[in-house]
Formats: sequence, C-alpha cells, structure tokens
Amino acid sequence: MRVSAKKEAIGYATKFKGQEYRFLGPTTYVNRRGDEFLTFHWEANCADCGDRFEVLVKPFSESPQKRRCNNCKAPGKRVAS
Ligand SMILES: [Zn+2]
Repeated sequence: MRVSAKKEAIGYATKFKGQEYRFLGPTTYVNRRGDEFLTFHWEANCADCGDRFEVLVKPFSESPQKRRCNNCKAPGKRVAS
C-alpha cells in the first residue's frame, strides 16, 4: 500500500488480495494527545456486500486493516474469496 503523498497519485488504484483499493489522498490523523500523523485515505468495496467504504492506512503499512464495510466488519474472520 505504499504510495507517495504527491497529488498525482490521487485516483491511483491498487489491488490487495484481489480487492481493489483506490487512493483518495493524504490526510492528517490527530490522536487524543493532539499529536498529528500523516495517513492515507483509501476507498474500496466491501469484500462481503460490495458497499463502498473508506479506510485510513498508515504511510508504511503494507496492507489495509479493513476489507469490509462497517456493517460487515468481523475482526479476525477471514475474507472468503
Ligand atoms: Zn459490507
């Protein structure tokens, strides 16, 4: 999921285990202590129902943490694909 923060990368699409993720752009995440972190905003379609969902991915993360929308989320359960 590595991508540069350049504007040209917006709209870039990549596949993770057969699921397409589209890059929406960099965004800033602020934690409860007020520290700012750069993250990347991606959208994809839920592995179960196909609904669009958004996910924030840390800059050096190799994989998205989410593969399903909020309605279908099932942590620890494998995506049947
Ligand atoms: Zn879903």
